[in-house]
Amino acid sequence: MIVLKFGGTSVGDASAIQRLVDVVELATADAPLVVVSAMTRVTNSLLDLDALLTSDEYAEAERLRRELQHRHEQTAAALKVAGWVVGDLLASFEELAELIRVFPPVADLARRDRIAGFGELWSSLLVTGASEAKGLAASWFDARTVMHTDSHFGAAIPDEPAIRTAVARDLAPRIGAGQVVVTQGFIGRNAAGAPTTLGRGGSDFSAALFGAALGASRVEIWTDVDGLMSADPRVVPDARLLSHATYDEAAELAAFGAKVLHPATQLPLVEAGIPIVIRNTFAPEKPGTWIGAESLDDGSLPVRSISFKPGVTIVQIRAARMLGAYGFLRRIFEVFERHEIVVDVLASSEVSVSLTIDDGTQLAAVVHDLGAIGEVTVKPGRGVVAVVGRAIRETPGIAARVYSAIADVNVEMISQGASASNLTFIVAEANGPQVVRALHQAFFPEFE
Ligand code: ADP
Ligand code: ASP
Ligand code: MG
Repeated sequence: MIVLKFGGTSVGDASAIQRLVDVVELATADAPLVVVSAMTRVTNSLLDLDALLTSDEYAEAERLRRELQHRHEQTAAALKVAGWVVGDLLASFEELAELIRVFPPVADLARRDRIAGFGELWSSLLVTGASEAKGLAASWFDARTVMHTDSHFGAAIPDEPAIRTAVARDLAPRIGAGQVVVTQGFIGRNAAGAPTTLGRGGSDFSAALFGAALGASRVEIWTDVDGLMSADPRVVPDARLLSHATYDEAAELAAFGAKVLHPATQLPLVEAGIPIVIRNTFAPEKPGTWIGAESLDDGSLPVRSISFKPGVTIVQIRAARMLGAYGFLRRIFEVFERHEIVVDVLASSEVSVSLTIDDGTQLAAVVHDLGAIGEVTVKPGRGVVAVVGRAIRETPGIAARVYSAIADVNVEMISQGASASNLTFIVAEANGPQVVRALHQAFFPEFE
């Protein structure tokens, strides 16, 4: 049994879906479960649509829905899917039309998740139809019936024991050699039966949860790049492929902005040692990146990858009177905990603490509460650059090379994180790509 997960661009249009079906066809003997994301940009459009409902712009929301319907219908026609697929697609678009009609114009997190999840339902129907049209024994499976989560809409936490039981009972018996079962990433359902989502980019995580529950022999993540690379190839065109990585390295790169993998993907797989393989749907002949417990590369390069995560805000709290007093950090973190805000990078001195959070986080209440502790400064529009590798801190000279490579950029905050394997700093967002290129050139010069 294997899990094959295909991302947005891999289902982005009819020709991409045809490539996907070619990949799936070669894997039918391995009893595949195919997990798909929504077509490119569809989740964004659905979130826009939800925001239009909140602001009482129903006509505009309905226009967007029709546009999405048109795109899916066109793709269905190009793929020559069977009548039942078109029928199910139309019924699903009608269900969305009904939601647009009935929901009142207020923000509603449960509604947002319900709407955001339609993209995966539609793309999985297209993929099932295209597989059938190619002569494969394909069937469609509703992931929500087994992907049990809590009720934290927008970033629901999966209930792994419940998923394992449900998968063993309802999904595993359908999977077998010669069969192609197609299901959705990203979406689940809470105990009350309301649709939830695992958070942006969560289809990778879904694939891993399915893989763990099925005891799959591997989880393949099919995407639009050759694998995990030494930098985002869109930023550094000559980035090199990492043929192997450990679970920890992959998680670290993902957490610091390597969007190619959701940061939680390895979590369900580590215990059983199920490998993750990242492959390119548009270049299936390439080997991709193999991720597992052990690293099989030669380990000679201390730096493995340079990543960049835009869209962060620095919050700095200064309090001279805290000098020498204890409890300062605890009080600060209590504020963030109370407001349920995730803190990313942290740097501290005796009189000040700087930390980063995602841009767009509602900050007014936090700033107010932090004001009782010290003087607060908020700087949005920043990005986190991370130099990730093995034993970065024990290897002499790495920090010096990093700083000389970016000598002309204003670095605002430096942190070494909890692990020895990264060096992290914050720059203005606009400088991110330039910094990544300069660092890549410094550490991977032979590719110039
Ligand atoms: P999918 O829709 O298949 O899930 P994503 O867009 O989520 O694909 O992730 C793939 C993208 O991740 C690539 O197109 C690439 O631009 C980006 N990326 C960022 N950092 C890296 C990296 N270190 N290695 C490979 N890809 C990266
Ligand atoms: N479609 C979802 C998103 O855009 C999930 C995913 O692509 O992994 O976030
Ligand atoms: Mg993704």
